[in-house]
Amino acid sequence: MQGLMQDWPLTVEKIIDHAKAWHGGREVVSRSVEGPIVRTTYAQIHARAQRVSNALLALGVQPGDRVATLAWNTGRHIEAWYGIMGIGAVCHTLNPRLFAEQLCYIVNHAEDKLIFTDLTFLPVLLENRPKMPTVQHIVVLTDPDHMPKDVPGALCFETLVEQASPDCVWGGFDENTAAGLCYTSGTTGNPKGVLYSHRSNFLHTLVTMGSDVLGIRATDTVLPVVPMFHANAWGLAFSAPAVGAKLVMPGAKLDGASVHELLETEGVTYSAAVPTVWQMLLTHLRATNGKITTLKRVVIGGSAVPEAIVRGFRDEYGVDVTHAWGMTETSPLGTQATPNAAIAAMDPEQQLQFKLKQGRAPLGIQLKLVDDDEKDLPRDGHTFGRLKVSGPFVVGEYFKGEGGKILDADGYFDTGDVATLDEHGFMQITDRAKDVIKSGGEWISSIEIENIAAGHPKAELAAVIGVVHPKWDERPLLLVKLNAGETATKEEFLAFLEGKIAKWWTPDDVVFVDDIPLGATGKIDKKLIRDRMKDYVLPTAPAAAAPAVALAAPPEPKIYAPEPEPPAGPNLEAESLDWTPNAAQRIEPKPEPLVAAFPATSETKAEEAPADAEVPFPAEPATSAGPETELPPAEGVIAQPMFAAAPPAGRKASPGRARFADLYLKLAAIVAITPAAMVGVAFLGVQLNLLDRPAFVRLALDLAPQVALISVATGIAGLAVALVAGFNRFWLRGLLVLAISAATLGAYVVARSTGAQAPAAAPVAQPASR
Ligand code: AMP
Repeated sequence: MQGLMQDWPLTVEKIIDHAKAWHGGREVVSRSVEGPIVRTTYAQIHARAQRVSNALLALGVQPGDRVATLAWNTGRHIEAWYGIMGIGAVCHTLNPRLFAEQLCYIVNHAEDKLIFTDLTFLPVLLENRPKMPTVQHIVVLTDPDHMPKDVPGALCFETLVEQASPDCVWGGFDENTAAGLCYTSGTTGNPKGVLYSHRSNFLHTLVTMGSDVLGIRATDTVLPVVPMFHANAWGLAFSAPAVGAKLVMPGAKLDGASVHELLETEGVTYSAAVPTVWQMLLTHLRATNGKITTLKRVVIGGSAVPEAIVRGFRDEYGVDVTHAWGMTETSPLGTQATPNAAIAAMDPEQQLQFKLKQGRAPLGIQLKLVDDDEKDLPRDGHTFGRLKVSGPFVVGEYFKGEGGKILDADGYFDTGDVATLDEHGFMQITDRAKDVIKSGGEWISSIEIENIAAGHPKAELAAVIGVVHPKWDERPLLLVKLNAGETATKEEFLAFLEGKIAKWWTPDDVVFVDDIPLGATGKIDKKLIRDRMKDYVLPTAPAAAAPAVALAAPPEPKIYAPEPEPPAGPNLEAESLDWTPNAAQRIEPKPEPLVAAFPATSETKAEEAPADAEVPFPAEPATSAGPETELPPAEGVIAQPMFAAAPPAGRKASPGRARFADLYLKLAAIVAITPAAMVGVAFLGVQLNLLDRPAFVRLALDLAPQVALISVATGIAGLAVALVAGFNRFWLRGLLVLAISAATLGAYVVARSTGAQAPAAAPVAQPASR
């Protein structure tokens, strides 16, 4: 027997219809690509999206056609989004951070008929246009004033909207009609398309609106920093209008200062982004003593949230962090770490341990853990297994059947993640299946180690990979990118990990690197790191196992600049290792570590990279001046494979130079403070009657200024040394030394020119007495 309720297809244009009807005056605020803040409302978005639909129909777009967007989060992007979906066409969000060749592959695979693009991406799009035969039109998301004049065939969005007729009949198709298309980042093989249906998006929206899920409300002001081109901005472009929340769209500027400005000026209460964005914000807030006045909740996902971020938000700014997990294939939200009753009753520190997990499944998501034989694994909180997922907004097959059958016999999709499930149903990702380190037949979570290491106050980023070991198959290697100007030793990091991970998980080596490459979706690109490190030999590997070439003549390191060799760390001592696989087996005594050495083939030629070929990756943490997220239209954002991981031009750190710079800057610092010390000593000497007046004058007024002059010269040379030895690492110290010397000398010059004298020295320092 069938139910007798209304047949009301779950199609997403109903979401913006609803927003217009019930929250029509609610604002949508965008930082436009052209610069100014633009204000509109859901009613206006709705009206303009209908015009977009009419314009698309007039340009020959039919239901089922793929229409792409290559755009930042803005109101115009939302208008294009609903305009496309409303007529049954498929909104294909393109990720501009992909390599140009991947982008062409994706456009061709999807057979996109039309592309909406921001000005930012127009040059790259035009350059690659000949390789995109299916694309009939390019529409630039701008107004006539900013429309480039010399682009034949490109259409202006505002002109199209203005000229299109106002009303359009949306919907009227089956709820299983395709609505959106998003390609996975394609770390293995070609990118694969996930084809969302109206129904799957609608259900995902309803689920994520739950108060234990994203839980946004009509009273919220929502800033989706997570891009619409990455897994649909985690559904916020649907759920915010669905509840009537004010939307604040950040456009191209995703750096800490810009995000902070929007948070404060627009009264944002709720935001969502990957951890690196939040790290940038916290760095900015701390550096500027910035305040957070309205923000209450942030959702963090895409990669595991480091504890330091959760604590930073909670303890310094009173902001609650919700950790979430998902993937393009799950629309994307799969789990979120909101407490259940038992966890809510725990003390805050215990609760925090659950916040760091990826969380529990909402209604509509089913999870299971299996071993390599597909046997279900227990929910005991420590047994690792492959994470599988099923539900009405989980992928059933990839677009055009790529990759063949992707569901198991029970209809579950293998996420490629390795995870645990605990007795509260909280899932914790321990790794990607391909990144997990298999050591002595047991698994080590690279993510867990790198998350802890990233919490070290000196670390900006950390990555852990498995490196071949002749005895244990693989052992962990920790790579650390230090904060600008920092130095550290391997022991500091190993000591930091001690007690936080099992002893046998302790990395066999730590190398300090200038660059940890991030992929197109902001995650650490382990594939590239593994490739770079393929000739690296662990210090714990018996010498015989090391490739002869690496032992005999390691090529000069290109990116990595390990610290001077300290004595062997406690955790690496053979007798201190407690190996779970077989406690009787021990790591061999440690041979002299080799510096990380790249083979000639993976040397990158940063110096030769054209300026516009660098990846301006918005989610990357700021180094010195912050990430370049706002690109002038003349520069492309699409990555070029060879240059994506290149170190900044001119940076060829070597351990020798680093050691020299470290020593030199220490000496220069001593020289810089010497004049002040001399004045102090002279002053004290007079006060204690140990020095007579002429001696005071000689020391404080003759010799000290000369030393100050020398210290300025030493400081200038110090900056040059910093430049050569690794600017990122040493610039701050170089600058500090120079600033102290210059300030001291300046003080003398001012004192002389104004005739001012040190109070205590005045009686003895009169020129007459000399
Ligand atoms: P994507 O489809 O590009 O969004 O990538 C999805 C993958 O990102 C997942 O399969 C996980 O490996 C990873 N991921 C997403 N969220 C998290 C999280 N909170 N913690 C750890 N990994 C995550």
